[in-house]
Amino acid sequence: MSTPEPLALPDTEAAEAWVKERTSATLTHVRELAERLRTAPPSQALEVLKAWDQLSLELGSLGGLAGLLANVHPVEAVRTACEDTEVEVDRLRTELTQDQALYRVFADLPEEQTAALDPLAARLLEKTLQDFTRAGVDRDDATRSRLTEINERLTELNLEFSRVTRDDVRITTATPEQLDGMPADWLEAHPVNDKGLVEITTDYPDALPARMFVKDPAIRRAVTVAGLERGWPHNDAVLKEMFALRHELATLVGYEDWPAFDAAVKMIGEGSAIPEFIDRIAAAAEGRMKRDLEVLLDRYDRDVPGASAVSAADALYYEELVRQEKYDVDSQVVRTYFDFAKVHQGLLDVTGRLFGLRYEPVSDVVTWHEDVSVFDVYPHDGDERLGRIHLDLHPREGKYKHAAQFDLATGVKGRQLPEGVLVCNFSRGLMEHDHVVTLFHEFGHLIHHVLGGQGEWARFSGVATEWDFVEAPSQMLEEWAWDAEVLQTFATNEAGEPIPADLVARMRAADDFGKGYHARQQMFYAAISYWFHKEQPEDLTKRLQELQAAYSPYPYLDGTHFFANFGHLGGYSSAYYTYMWSLVIAKDLFSAFDRDDLFAPEVAGRYRDLVLARGGEKDAADLVADFLGRPYSFDAYATWLVS
Ligand SMILES: [Zn+2]
Repeated sequence: MSTPEPLALPDTEAAEAWVKERTSATLTHVRELAERLRTAPPSQALEVLKAWDQLSLELGSLGGLAGLLANVHPVEAVRTACEDTEVEVDRLRTELTQDQALYRVFADLPEEQTAALDPLAARLLEKTLQDFTRAGVDRDDATRSRLTEINERLTELNLEFSRVTRDDVRITTATPEQLDGMPADWLEAHPVNDKGLVEITTDYPDALPARMFVKDPAIRRAVTVAGLERGWPHNDAVLKEMFALRHELATLVGYEDWPAFDAAVKMIGEGSAIPEFIDRIAAAAEGRMKRDLEVLLDRYDRDVPGASAVSAADALYYEELVRQEKYDVDSQVVRTYFDFAKVHQGLLDVTGRLFGLRYEPVSDVVTWHEDVSVFDVYPHDGDERLGRIHLDLHPREGKYKHAAQFDLATGVKGRQLPEGVLVCNFSRGLMEHDHVVTLFHEFGHLIHHVLGGQGEWARFSGVATEWDFVEAPSQMLEEWAWDAEVLQTFATNEAGEPIPADLVARMRAADDFGKGYHARQQMFYAAISYWFHKEQPEDLTKRLQELQAAYSPYPYLDGTHFFANFGHLGGYSSAYYTYMWSLVIAKDLFSAFDRDDLFAPEVAGRYRDLVLARGGEKDAADLVADFLGRPYSFDAYATWLVS
């Protein structure tokens, strides 16, 4: 079988025409494939599945490409064209999964043929039939046409929500004196404007250091509030319509509500299990949260006498102070060990060693921006290319504001090379350790996409596992960014001295310090995500305040509307709990590794082969059990939380 070639991307000038041409050609071809399958299906079940999988591969790859470029391309017209493509892809996908003639091709496959399918093909058939019924294929014409309308509108709303969130960058201005406490390199990169003021945008590299280091509480508050206000008021109506339509969709295809519909294809299984899980974590974290908040409040009280709680606008700053004073961790010293270029190389060296891979830089290739670096991935001792990765790691105007992995091409053995992209917003100089952890996290998705992209079915390629499992490999990889021996392989300061092991130990202790209230803050987010969908509250701000009081360690900041820029309400909908669910699984997976030797090849190789490389070929619970030799459990997480 020949190895497929990577995708050739267009020059900046040619990109808009290229996207439009590729969109129209792919959609036409997918329609042809569907028509052939509908009118003259192959006589064998396996061939029917292969034809469908080819169609899914082409449609999914177009959607992935468009989803990426809509978020990273420097030319606005290209981003807009890609958003149009995403709408078209979703529209066609809905149309196909509601196509009764197509459905019958699968539903009417003769038993003697389906019974003879190999387990993976049988799983594909089962999942395909489920995709059809979840799309409402077995409902009457009026219902199906309403479902089409809903899906189209939901796609538009999703795009609008993320576009508004992304483009609504707010600016806080401060005099140089008001920025006392900020790191020197940050101040150097932020000269005063013609009015003698420094501009702090709501982008991470600006806002995060400001919230951590600025001594002036008014500036911290202004920056925090600006961040919480992005997307408001516009997104209030966008979200309400989104919640209402999702609910209607779920009920039209036979589910009680959106969370029930959404959970049915996840590890958690039932919608009602979500609030149970949220409350289980919230209760487990309660004692730890109280203990740590007391410490925080003690320190806070010295500056804000008589305060009964730490303000959300001050939380990062006082956390930072406690880290310095109690744990002797000074982030400004820590960051001197994390020069971007060294971290970048270190990440490749560490993951290469761990997973037995080698990354070859590719320089003679067109990308969407000069910041992007490209590598081909090979087995460390082999010449068969496994995939291609693209790293787009610094902020720029019009670019996605968070950190995420995007699929550029879905990998299928012999048919298409897996290609993935890391889109992040890191500084070009010194990095916060948090960002180093984020980089390892996102790289976990990338490597899952590549290693899982070697199978025979597009439907199970890469990160195509249950969504509440998908964060687990990434969360586990974060552990490598917390290990002194691992960090010392690349984290060196200007003098070339590696980060001291005792500093890393104190960083861990300092990080552990907040884990109880961090878990509670996460459960606050998860509760918004679940209850907003379950109840569709009339007054989102009021419901947010109630949930914040119930779960968050910090009181509500008056006049703010965090949900208006809570991007995960778009993609994750009612399932933000998945981050914590995955963390429970991640801690369980990590328990199999030897903490004193994180590079031990046997366990890493088993993990690579039994979990990552399998993509979605099995239920996540089974992948985990294959690796651990027992079913997954809550124990490792619970132990970690109180330790
Ligand atoms: Zn992630």
